[in-house]
Amino acid sequence: MKQRVVIAMAISLRPSLVIADEPTTSLDVLTQYKIVEELLRLRDTFNVSLLSVSHDISMISRLSDRIMVMYAGKVVEMIPSSDFSRARHPYTFMLVNSIPSIQEDISEVLPIEGGSPPSLLTKPTGCPFEPRCRYATGSCREPGGADEPRVVEAGHTVSCTVLPQMKRDARASSAVRESAHGPEGTPIIEVRDVTKVFSKRSGLREGKASAGSGVTALDGVNLSIYPGECVAIVGETGSGKTTLSRIVGLLDEPTSGYISYMGRRST
Ligand code: SF4
Repeated sequence: MKQRVVIAMAISLRPSLVIADEPTTSLDVLTQYKIVEELLRLRDTFNVSLLSVSHDISMISRLSDRIMVMYAGKVVEMIPSSDFSRARHPYTFMLVNSIPSIQEDISEVLPIEGGSPPSLLTKPTGCPFEPRCRYATGSCREPGGADEPRVVEAGHTVSCTVLPQMKRDARASSAVRESAHGPEGTPIIEVRDVTKVFSKRSGLREGKASAGSGVTALDGVNLSIYPGECVAIVGETGSGKTTLSRIVGLLDEPTSGYISYMGRRST
């Protein structure tokens, strides 16, 4: 009920943008469904843009037009929801294949192996997903190799030097929605080259730090959200989702880069 009240508060002033960080976490599936449907109804009725943050791939696929997948503070893939079954980054592919299906034995679920995401205190020089990636090659450890997003299709970018061919799983297409809105017109909000470094000594919610002296929670993130468009940010805990949403909501300042809301720069 508290979550519902907060959502009602958020939309009562007819905002142009709603930032929903884990809007349905801990709710039962029926309530999740109702909240997702309500957010979509608001989007359609009032042309509200929605930035949702979640680790729930199936919910986010249903709710969003585009999905931005993050890993270790970096954007690894930007993909239209309707194309989610054609994910090209190994991390996204493994996320999709780690979703249990009601039709199959739970033992057939493919976990992401190889431990945890890298420490943000010591940034890896090569691809941050390399220690856990079953498709890694020697070139993946080269500095900056996976930094540049590569356009694989219109509106679909991937930060991976190898772009391996991966066996597709039909489950990925079952939960997606047809995209109703796309990147058209002037963006409601723009995130430009945003980096966020937290000071080691001051704790994660305080203190100024420059790049290289602390925890790099965000590393050169770019994002534009267009009128009526729903964009999802997906990633494991600690990947930078919440830091980004706090910066977009002006609850935190970026170390470098800026936010622009309807053409006005915040910093
Ligand atoms: S760059 Fe290499 S390690 Fe990184 S995701 Fe692509 S294949 Fe895997």
